Amino acid sequence: MPPAEALRFERDAVIAWRDGRIEAFGAAAEILPRLPPATPVTHFERALIVPGFVDCHVHYPQMPIIGAGGHPLLEWLERYTFPAEQAFMDEGYARKVARSFLRELMRNGTTTAAVFCTVHAVSAEALFAEAEPTGLRIVAGKCLMDRNAPAALSDTAQRGYDESKALIERWHGRGRLGYAVTPRFVASSTPAQLEAAAALWRGHPGTLLQSHLAENVDEVAWVRSLFPECTDYVDVFDRFGLLGRGAIHGHGVHLSERERARLAESTTALAHCPTSNFFLGSGLFDLAAAKRRNVPIPVGLATDVGAGTTLSMLATMGAASRVAQMRGNPLDPVQALWLATAGAAQALTLEDRVGDLAPGLDADVVVLDLAATPLLTERMSRVEDIGDMLAVLSTLGDDRCVRATYAAGMPVWSRQESPAEAQ
Ligand SMILES: [Zn+2]
Repeated sequence: MPPAEALRFERDAVIAWRDGRIEAFGAAAEILPRLPPATPVTHFERALIVPGFVDCHVHYPQMPIIGAGGHPLLEWLERYTFPAEQAFMDEGYARKVARSFLRELMRNGTTTAAVFCTVHAVSAEALFAEAEPTGLRIVAGKCLMDRNAPAALSDTAQRGYDESKALIERWHGRGRLGYAVTPRFVASSTPAQLEAAAALWRGHPGTLLQSHLAENVDEVAWVRSLFPECTDYVDVFDRFGLLGRGAIHGHGVHLSERERARLAESTTALAHCPTSNFFLGSGLFDLAAAKRRNVPIPVGLATDVGAGTTLSMLATMGAASRVAQMRGNPLDPVQALWLATAGAAQALTLEDRVGDLAPGLDADVVVLDLAATPLLTERMSRVEDIGDMLAVLSTLGDDRCVRATYAAGMPVWSRQESPAEAQ
């Protein structure tokens, strides 16, 4: 989307909402006189107000191992991730980590997230139960893994199907919660389990399907050896009926033109996870290639914590810009914000609910502090336009910039004073 169409900017704006939905967004001079008398108004100075961020691929059980690194994907999974995920068979522990994960989302201004749990059904139960009272929009699913994983992290095709179905019936569509059928990646599921995943997804309209795709060269080679009858990685998903609108696959770093064409044609989305790709040395996602066609591949930005190094979508926007620079196709900062909000919402097929400040959408709103640090204050005094402001925010900004977060109109995070003011 061209930068001019990706953003509507108002210098002195009002966002009005009622019962969790946005009613009006526009110039203060226009909206304020129309508000009913006694409408409470909160005013923010030195702030940029944007839609709540949408993180379209993140693993909450990996938050405790963020930063454990120095290894490529497959070794990182063996050494750190699989051992850490085994603890999530305990619901008490899972709830504790889920609580702290959700608090981090709110502190970072993320109001919608698509989340991987572990193979344990209780890990998904714990996340949904903790998320419900927060008012955040959380789409999540238990991982399906019935091969190439430790015994303690393995289910079977039947058990994975039964547990996922029970979770869908209990949580999908309850408040702002949704279910994503979650085969971890095709190397960790047997053909029988991939068939079961497709049956679950197709059998429950409105659920999403999330997985991983072509993240790392060794993984791509491994998948090819596991599915010799398939043309390529995307073809594995295709043969099992795991492409289409509502499917979102993480990474897509190593794709052929044929694979990109098939993703675009089938409206299958990709989650671009730049800090994770840097951290594991997976490669540089080619955003320009994903967007080259008349009908482009839906792409959203994502943190992919714990391989990702931050839960801040601002910092993730900065990382996406650096990947694009390395690729020789600079990313406009306005487009980076679009990918972290409206683009990610579209990738999750939630564009009629979140990702924008348009009337009728959920009132998910983040107030960004333009004076969060001394350097940011200094630099902001020199910005010339909104593009410049976003470029600086995504370079210097992170959770320190989030002054307030609203989910469906309710305040879920608020910082009374900026760190710069407190000094
Ligand atoms: Zn991931």
